[in-house]
Amino acid sequence: MSRPITSARALAIVLGATGRLRPRRVPLARALGRVLAENVRADGDNPPWDNSAMDGYGVRHQDLKNAGEVRPVRLNLIGTVMAGQTTGRAIGPGQAMGIMTGAPVPRGVTAVIPVEFTREERGRVLAFKTVAAGENIRRRGENIRRREKVLSPGSRIGPSEVGMLAIVGRNRVKVTPVPKVAVLATGDELVDVDEPITPGKIRNSNEYTSIALVKLYGGEPVALGIARDTAEDLTAKIQGGVEQNVDLFLTSAGVSVGDFDIVKNVLAAEGEMHFWQVAIKPGKPLAFGIVGGVPLLGLPGNPVAAMVAFEVFARPAILKLGGHASWNKPSVRAILDEDVHNSGRRHFMRARVRQEAGDYRVTTRGSGVQVQGSGILSSLVWANGLVVVPEEVTFIEAGSSVEVWMLDWPRADPQFP
Ligand code: AMP
Ligand code: MG
Repeated sequence: MSRPITSARALAIVLGATGRLRPRRVPLARALGRVLAENVRADGDNPPWDNSAMDGYGVRHQDLKNAGEVRPVRLNLIGTVMAGQTTGRAIGPGQAMGIMTGAPVPRGVTAVIPVEFTREERGRVLAFKTVAAGENIRRRGENIRRREKVLSPGSRIGPSEVGMLAIVGRNRVKVTPVPKVAVLATGDELVDVDEPITPGKIRNSNEYTSIALVKLYGGEPVALGIARDTAEDLTAKIQGGVEQNVDLFLTSAGVSVGDFDIVKNVLAAEGEMHFWQVAIKPGKPLAFGIVGGVPLLGLPGNPVAAMVAFEVFARPAILKLGGHASWNKPSVRAILDEDVHNSGRRHFMRARVRQEAGDYRVTTRGSGVQVQGSGILSSLVWANGLVVVPEEVTFIEAGSSVEVWMLDWPRADPQFP
């Protein structure tokens, strides 16, 4: 009988057996939400030339040093430059040139006075305000410099990254493929959501929570349904997944010490098993191995344990496969409401974080209900975080600061500003 390994060791084994998927190029229009797989450098300065930040008049700032509301300075208007145009003309002392936002700044212009501080009168411009040198001029290269690195691999392409790719002229971009993650429930007791519950049966909820989490972390779920508690059925379903070229298997249940805990038996018989017990709570029965060349994470059967183990192990694996540069769970430090006891395992306690007088505060107790049982899924609905109690810590006093992993963060939760 093997001893449970630490969660840090288990995660290292999972990630060690999970490689990044090979990048592909996609058109820019399809890049949103994907993970960048290359360094992106600027093909030129942006903006490409000094240009006006305002509609107004290009002037020599020295000419306006005595301008004011009562005594405007008069300048000769020698032309106008529109956005998208250029001009070869320069301005000299006492002259101004009309200029539109984004238009290149003509030679001789050292500042732009916005139109609202001017009046045009018979070919002249009256300026009612002084301007500082450089005012309202956007400098060449102030956004990005030619050859500068503007985006790094491993970052998620959001709307602003799409904009940067467009600025540097990239109509195709290298991204990591979306990992295909097979989800497979096991158990003779399971019925599906649209079937009646007969004696001894329960509804298969793990398949649905796993599929939801796979989607949340950027994977493409491949639902393999329910395998019954026989080695033949499970092996056949796994084979089906291998044929669909999945990148990761996630099973649920069948990993405890009972006779019918076939996931670990099949893993050992058909592939290689790396571990099957981890010192975390909930979720101690947890298997990992390789079958058909594909990593397989055997999540526990209890619904909460399955979800917590997903967060701790499957989430980093999916993010790594998907090319992300980091997979740390967003966390906060919060002040604990009550004493907490622990015994030798890394305990992920369902918790609710709230803001109070500028601090995060957290409770691991619901309103009188038993929230920490590994089958109590309603407590995960209640929770918005998981307090992480390290394995070597046996007691935490009320009022201490603790680490809390935030679930589904940031989320629109009226209870959590
Ligand atoms: P096992 O690891 O097979 O002993 O399962 C542990 C517990 O999880 C049992 O109470 C199972 O009924 C429950 N369970 C197993 N699979 C699922 C599932 N797909 N959805 C909900 N509960 C499950
Ligand atoms: Mg079972």
